[in-house]
Amino acid sequence: MPVQKFIIVLDPGHGGFDPGAIGPNGTNESRVALSIAKKTKLYLSSAVEVYLTRTEDKALTRNSAADQIARAAVSESINATCFVSIHCNSSKEEEQHGVETYYYKGSERGKQLAANINNKLSPAVGLLNRGIKEADLAVLRYTKCPSAQVEVAFISNPREEALLNTDDFQDRAAWAIASGIASFTGANLQRIPDLENSYRETPLIKLLRKAKFTEPCKKSDPVTIEILADILDRLGIL
Ligand SMILES: [Zn+2]
Repeated sequence: MPVQKFIIVLDPGHGGFDPGAIGPNGTNESRVALSIAKKTKLYLSSAVEVYLTRTEDKALTRNSAADQIARAAVSESINATCFVSIHCNSSKEEEQHGVETYYYKGSERGKQLAANINNKLSPAVGLLNRGIKEADLAVLRYTKCPSAQVEVAFISNPREEALLNTDDFQDRAAWAIASGIASFTGANLQRIPDLENSYRETPLIKLLRKAKFTEPCKKSDPVTIEILADILDRLGIL
C-alpha cells in the first residue's frame, strides 16, 4: 500500500509592511511567528512535506487584503492537506494571557485541526488553555483545505512577551504545533522526549522572567560581566 503523502502549509503571520502586534518591550509579532514557523517545519519535515508562505520578513503582496488571499492561495496551488497560520495574541488589557486557536466558522475539519493543536500547545508551553474559537478570519475563509490560526501566547503581556523571545519557548511551541498537525493528519513524527514533557519553568526561564529580559537569547549565550551586573541590578541584589 503506498504511504499517503501529506502536504502542510505553515503561514507565519504578518511580515514586511505589517509587523503585527508589538509587545510592551518592543517584540515584533512577525519575527516571532516566522521563527516558530521555521522550527515547526524542522520538526514536521521528518514526516510530511512542509511549505512556508514566507521565509523572510516580507509580506506576499503590498496590501493587507490581497496578502491574506495570497497566503491562502499557496495551499490551493500545492493541494495542501491542511494550512496553519501562526500568530501571537494581543490585547489592550496587559493581564490577558494564554493560548487559543481559531478555525473557520462551520468547518468541522478545521475545528478538529484547531483542537489537536491547541490541546498539545497549552501543556507544552505551560500557559492557560483558552480553548478553540470560531472566527471569520480572511486567511481561513479563503483557504479550501482544513485550516487553523494558532495564537501561541499574548505578546501584549510582558511575561508572555519575554517567553516568546526565548529559544526554549519557541521550540516547545513549534514542537506542539507539529505534534498537533501530525495527530490531525495521522502522520508519524520522530519523537523528541525533551520536548514531550509538560512545561515546567526552568531556572533559565525564571531568571529571564524575574530579571525582565526580553532580548532574544539562547541557552548557550555567554554572559559578560556587564550583563551579569545588569541581571543582579534588575533582581535588586546590587
Ligand atoms: Zn497576528
